[in-house]
Amino acid sequence: MTKTNKRILLVEDEPHVSDIVTRVLAGSGAEIVTAATIKEAEALLEAGKLDLLILDRLLPDGDGVQLFTRIKQKPELRNLPVLILSAKDYSAEQAEGLDLGADDYMPKPFSPQELRARVAALLRRAEKFAHREAADGVVPGCKPRKKN
Ligand code: CA
Repeated sequence: MTKTNKRILLVEDEPHVSDIVTRVLAGSGAEIVTAATIKEAEALLEAGKLDLLILDRLLPDGDGVQLFTRIKQKPELRNLPVLILSAKDYSAEQAEGLDLGADDYMPKPFSPQELRARVAALLRRAEKFAHREAADGVVPGCKPRKKN
């Protein structure tokens, strides 16, 4: 397994889904940290740098979308890629998730291959963005470009 410096936060309250996602993503070499509630997730978001958030919607202390909305309001977190997971109806929820500005959306149940591919794509995109921000940062008077 190739180790990367990537950290993924998985917010999912169902242990079996959490296990599956963790196992599927283990091969990516990223470090996977898990939270089962919005409260736990918020503590981990404060605690350190993350490269991707995988967020379930139906959580014991609320809708994952509430956390998503709060993240997008924080300048230091708003560029964190978010993949929303949900067992709710696919088409309506997908549209809603993407409308809110989520980077991607996975309906449950999902295929491990598809999850792996989407996570890899999001991490690549995040990396490109980070490099571009860093490059912009060295030009005096040049504001970092905003995503979207
Ligand atoms: Ca759930």
